[in-house]
Amino acid sequence: MNEYDSNRILDLLKPMGYNLTKNSLETDCYIINTCHIREKATDKVYHDIGRLKKNFKNKKKPILIVTGCVAQAENDQMLKQEKYIDSVVGPQSYHQIPEILRKIEIDKRRIERTEFEVIEKFDNLNVIKNSNSKISSLLTIQEGCNKFCHFCVVPYTRGPEYSRSFNEIIKEAKQLLANGTKEITLLGQNVNAYNYKEKGKSYRLSDIIYELNSFRDLKRIKYTTSHPKDVTMDLVEAHKSCKKLMPILHLPVQSGSTKILKSMNRKHSVKEYLEIINKIRDAKPGIKFSSDFIIGYPGETEEDFKKTLELVNEVKFINSYSFIYSRRPGTPASKINEVNKSVAKERLKIIQELLKSYQIDYKKEFLKKSVEVLFENKMKDQRKYFGRDKYSNSVLVESEENLTGKIMSVKIVNYNHNNFFGKILDEQKKSFAA
Ligand code: SAH
Ligand code: SF4
Repeated sequence: MNEYDSNRILDLLKPMGYNLTKNSLETDCYIINTCHIREKATDKVYHDIGRLKKNFKNKKKPILIVTGCVAQAENDQMLKQEKYIDSVVGPQSYHQIPEILRKIEIDKRRIERTEFEVIEKFDNLNVIKNSNSKISSLLTIQEGCNKFCHFCVVPYTRGPEYSRSFNEIIKEAKQLLANGTKEITLLGQNVNAYNYKEKGKSYRLSDIIYELNSFRDLKRIKYTTSHPKDVTMDLVEAHKSCKKLMPILHLPVQSGSTKILKSMNRKHSVKEYLEIINKIRDAKPGIKFSSDFIIGYPGETEEDFKKTLELVNEVKFINSYSFIYSRRPGTPASKINEVNKSVAKERLKIIQELLKSYQIDYKKEFLKKSVEVLFENKMKDQRKYFGRDKYSNSVLVESEENLTGKIMSVKIVNYNHNNFFGKILDEQKKSFAA
């Protein structure tokens, strides 16, 4: 979502004459869009500012704006602590950055804006075209969260659930298609909690998917991140009916122990999670799942951890994320005693190895087989093109021809942990000449 927000900030600033620069040493204005989800992400912000100060020691100081969830959580404190910062702007106030910039340019005031103005934000963004011209583009449809998992800062930093207008989302999708986009990933902190009501009609995530599925120029649809509790039958049906909806779903579970899920306030048991997985599998045979895991959550015993491993063995996730629990100030979990760090680290190593082994087993199956790849871009300084198969695996292919934006059948000849390596099938090469 920060990537989407950064692109939109750029859309807001272009009319003021600001453009993206590749040379970060020549910049007039520096905007750091921050993440507060884990402590490490927060530390990175101060590290980046330190580097910036060093780089600009003998130069004119650039305007520095810190936006995103760290700005939201640490607002005033941040301005007090770091004099180099000109403004802190929360994730629901970034539509004000043009006005803030003007004020800083004129009278060098330091400004803090961290109100939750999500309606006003999207009212502002809706009248500015989304200029993103990537083959694979992001589109925020929902923000915020009302679920209050005990470890998580999102409900405090992004605010309560908000769903954008259905028509505005479709309008923005059409802008992206006109810019050349072939794949859209619908975004939300709880994307499947999307619920927009207008003129007595209620729109869900599935309504957006059906509408996008009908656009000829759009080839692929994905959505992230979903909460298991909000996987409704209409969404399951959409997986069955919409050919363009990709056969991969990121469905975070966090833990394989129902006791820990309860203590996390996740609102579902392991049994219920598996029932959801099975329903989706019935609707879309062959669909694959990825997930998020928090390791060493306060109270996690060896037995709880084993249950998480059992769940991995049962679902055989591909491409998952696993992190050690990070204590976030102000959350209910921050008051509970933490698991010993070295025990948590050891568990993380074990689960990552298990997840990797399933990923490798899964990748092996593709060797010498052909997969359909949507090519996104040419790799920098190389003859290789980067694309993704239907399961979002990255695929690299050498080609003299420009593959960007094309969907091609590729024979997989090798793989490593991160990538597949493939060859364009000979018979398709003829289509280059056509
Ligand atoms: N709304 C999504 C997840 C959004 S946050 C959901 O509920 O599934 C993205 C991921 O960050 C979470 O799935 C979780 O695994 C991780 N995360 C959030 N807070 C964390 C914390 N305090 N420590 C470690 N990981 C955390
Ligand atoms: Fe955070 Fe997701 Fe839980 Fe909301 S549902 S509190 S975003 S982990």
